[in-house]
Amino acid sequence: MNGSPEYDVLIVGGGMVGASLAIALSGHGLRIGLVEAFAPGDPGQPGYDDRAIALAYGSRRIFQAMQVWSDLEGDAEPIDAIHVSDRGHFGFTHLSAEEEQVPALGYVVTARRLGHTLLGRLRECADVELIAPAQVLAVDSATHSAGVRVRRGAEEVELRARLLVAADGGKSFIREQLQIPTQCWAYGQSAVVANITPVRPHRNVAYERFTDSGPVALLPMSEGRCAVVWTVRDEDLDGVMALDDAAFLKAFQHRFGYRLGRFVKAGKRSSYPLALLRARESVRQRIAIIGNAAHTLHPIAGQGFNLGIRDVAALVDVVLDARHAEADIGGADVLQRYAAWREAEQRNVALATDGLARLFSNPLGIVRLGRNLGLLAVDLLPGARHGLARGAMGLLGRLPRLGRGLAPES
Ligand SMILES: Cc1cc2nc3c(=O)[nH]c(=O)nc-3n(C[C@H](O)[C@H](O)[C@H](O)COP(=O)(O)OP(=O)(O)OC[C@H]3O[C@@H](n4cnc5c(N)ncnc54)[C@H](O)[C@@H]3O)c2cc1C
Repeated sequence: MNGSPEYDVLIVGGGMVGASLAIALSGHGLRIGLVEAFAPGDPGQPGYDDRAIALAYGSRRIFQAMQVWSDLEGDAEPIDAIHVSDRGHFGFTHLSAEEEQVPALGYVVTARRLGHTLLGRLRECADVELIAPAQVLAVDSATHSAGVRVRRGAEEVELRARLLVAADGGKSFIREQLQIPTQCWAYGQSAVVANITPVRPHRNVAYERFTDSGPVALLPMSEGRCAVVWTVRDEDLDGVMALDDAAFLKAFQHRFGYRLGRFVKAGKRSSYPLALLRARESVRQRIAIIGNAAHTLHPIAGQGFNLGIRDVAALVDVVLDARHAEADIGGADVLQRYAAWREAEQRNVALATDGLARLFSNPLGIVRLGRNLGLLAVDLLPGARHGLARGAMGLLGRLPRLGRGLAPES
């Protein structure tokens, strides 16, 4: 490779994580490229479908510092409290925004709405070149740059950067091409998602309910609706998807109970196979792997994107610090700093989410007793409850500048 690469940072994947990174890095004198397989605004882009995303309070702070929150706020339903319980048993715990002295523990917004906001902001970023629709076909890394071969329409081009970021999702082509080992298993469960309307107002409470066949979550949405994330065993999936709306509401009511009264209306249903995946390395020479490409989680605790946006915030810190110091932004020491920073949190959140999904899918009596005592202990010990709430809000550990609500370079 002769001469300097055409980009400082080239991001592969314009899903919620890659698009957020491009926006956060914009305005700091970097030449940024963003390669995405789908055309901007294509309603078929799977990352921007109708699933409801619970954004933690910490993610709101990051979006605020990126100046995208004001556009989202009007459509984001606040979560004032989270109620966690074990169906038919005594254990439960209750987290509240008031107790944590924050305006909300989190906010619910659809991925589609979030995509609309991110794309709108990207269009305003003159230093971000959106290369879409374009498919990455090959990747390589060398001492001074990393590159991808991209098919764009009828032509194939090579693009090079000082830093290449793989934000290409759970089935990351780049991670696979680099043969980065992963820790991966399927849960034998799928998430069925739909919007439903209960008779009683949700009062901005999110519910996490653990049942013997897997967890269910109910998130508050606008117009009195709730977003359902219902975990079902794979062998039951076809049956649940084939139910008519009335039978679906009845079956879900049986799982969830009557805390919100009767469920009267159901929207369109979609399903997602559930697996845990963690890349065993998050950096390689001139390459960083972030978001779902680095970690794909069970959605029950609503942590996947929240973890990904914290990858973004940390990477922005180390890259802009390097730039400020006139150092090589894709150098090994910069990438190592990023990897070391993210390692513990990525591991802990993956372990906690996986533990919850397994522990609370286990019907054995002794396991059930233990988890109920655990929930009760969390509820009775304010310190434990506070720790759980801070974790759920993404406010634990060392926070990057964006995570503290500060401008990316300050
Ligand atoms: C049912 C469900 C509910 C969820 N609820 C929550 C929640 O409440 N809170 C939360 O925080 N998280 C939640 N998540 C997780 C969250 O949706 C993901 O963590 C997030 O969408 C990951 O974004 P990403 O940008 O890393 O990956 P993706 O959205 O997968 O984006 C990857 C992008 O890369 C592009 N791409 C891939 N390969 C190539 C290639 N070769 N060339 C060019 N482009 C390519 C794709 O087109 C895509 O646009 C949920 C997930 C599910 C399934």
